[in-house]
Amino acid sequence: SRPAAAMAAAARAPARIGDPVSDIDTPALVVDMEKLRMNLKIMPQSMSSFGSVAVRPHAKAHKCATLALLQVSHGAVGMCAQTLTEAEAMVYGGVQDVLVSNQIIGHSKLLRFATLAHHAKMSLCVDNEENIRELSNIAKDLNVTIGAVVEVNVGQDRCGVEPGPEVPRLAKLVQELPNLTFVGVQCYQGLNQHVRKAADRQAATDTVVEKSKRALKALEDAGIKCDYVTGGGTGTYLYEAGSGVFTEVQPGSYVFMDADYGRNFGEDGQPVHQFHQSLFVLTTVQSVTVGNRAVVDAGMKAVSLDSGEPLVYPTAEVIYHCGGDEHGILRPPANYKVGDKVWLIPGHCDPTVNLYDWIVGVRKNKVEALWPITGRGPGV
Ligand code: PLP
Ligand code: MN
Repeated sequence: SRPAAAMAAAARAPARIGDPVSDIDTPALVVDMEKLRMNLKIMPQSMSSFGSVAVRPHAKAHKCATLALLQVSHGAVGMCAQTLTEAEAMVYGGVQDVLVSNQIIGHSKLLRFATLAHHAKMSLCVDNEENIRELSNIAKDLNVTIGAVVEVNVGQDRCGVEPGPEVPRLAKLVQELPNLTFVGVQCYQGLNQHVRKAADRQAATDTVVEKSKRALKALEDAGIKCDYVTGGGTGTYLYEAGSGVFTEVQPGSYVFMDADYGRNFGEDGQPVHQFHQSLFVLTTVQSVTVGNRAVVDAGMKAVSLDSGEPLVYPTAEVIYHCGGDEHGILRPPANYKVGDKVWLIPGHCDPTVNLYDWIVGVRKNKVEALWPITGRGPGV
């Protein structure tokens, strides 16, 4: 299977448990275990006033079953996955309930997806009739039952049907076809997550809620019962949870956070400090030009730049500039010497994690855990 292949390729870990941080081979993806633990605890606490709204964290952030199982032990009902590879990593890693919050297209991949239903409770987002029919046929052949979630376009203009008659049409089709159950609807708007001001994020989520209500009304008018509405990410999940419409939220980045989420503001206009930055890229200084620059061993192959450059931690005065595929240039060079370790906060956690085979968990300057990122890759 793909996870086994990924693990074989990743056989050489960048550190050993018990090593000091200075012995970690860099660039390395390092997680501060204490901050991770705090984030795991804050999530259920933050949801305590929303009664029965479930948390189904998104595995697209970490793609790591070990971490997913920790989230489940902190009250998560199951996991979301965005790609088939992530879903396989979750199920073969022991997660018992997985929603693929995305479409899976084509016979070969649908077959792999349906096979997972032999091991776990599986559901999948759909927005296309032919895809639904193919999914039903394959599920029937395999003698498994799959939950179908109709994806609704609530403003991102990506996937999903408009919140109108198409929703009950597809729901009805799902109900009529063998080996499928109609679970409910997904109403996710990714662009809202990084709207900077809290009041603007709330207002943007109000639009999402309004469109979700339209989808539910269309279902009700068609006589179709729907008691599942899922969506929301780290930036807006509290608004979806408080809407009275959503029954489940899907935050992913909260376990790690990143520099982009660090630029979001809370209700009081202060930066959002609800979750802690637990994810870092650990780098080594490989060259210094005194008075001008220090160069670290982390370029585009080690940290994603789509949401801005990484921040140097904890020294805000030193700025990271991309130095190409394998280099980062730090200015001013502070007092860095060749061989020094430098911590970076990635601009965007998901695509940065996707570059690595291992999460290196550290506590008090020592390696405590090595977790394989078995769901990494382009999502084949
Ligand atoms: N749900 C879906 C469908 C997503 O695409 C994403 C992220 O892209 C999330 C949830 C999680 O978002 P975040 O990592 O910002 O919490
Ligand atoms: Mn993301």
